[in-house]
Amino acid sequence: MNKNKKKKTIALVAHDNRKADLVDWVDYNWKELIFHDLVCTGTTGAMVEKVLQENCMLANTVPPQVTRLKSGPLGGDQQLGALICEQKVDILIFLWDPMQPQPHDVDVKALLRICALYNIVTATNRSTADFVISSELFHQEYKPLVKDYSAYIKRVIS
Ligand code: PGA
Repeated sequence: MNKNKKKKTIALVAHDNRKADLVDWVDYNWKELIFHDLVCTGTTGAMVEKVLQENCMLANTVPPQVTRLKSGPLGGDQQLGALICEQKVDILIFLWDPMQPQPHDVDVKALLRICALYNIVTATNRSTADFVISSELFHQEYKPLVKDYSAYIKRVIS
């Protein structure tokens, strides 16, 4: 989570058939996104960086630093999952491809599971991403409630 409570850490990931959609979404929302910390899987990150740089250059603004993890199939989804476990991510925008199996389908499932576990804001399609970025809560401090797992952690194993 970000120290400036209103500033969010936003993870952006898109499967290949959804990358154009995500780039378009970032292009549309760049003026908002540049005020937040962005973390992406490798290939998505390169595309996000490019569109932000282009917009910032035209507007004479310094483009934000985009943290690029490994490419999804090479472990990037798992790296992102680890950041979510450490509660370092506020929002995940994940445009996954519902029409094509992925070599890292198990990682995709694991990533979505960990988002549910830590109750982070998760948009898996563009409409939801639109709702998230236009939500009043997007501009406020927001701490997700995480279920208390202490009983589970302290369970007795016989
Ligand atoms: P990529 O990974 O951004 O490196 O393409 C995305 C994914 O498939 O998780």
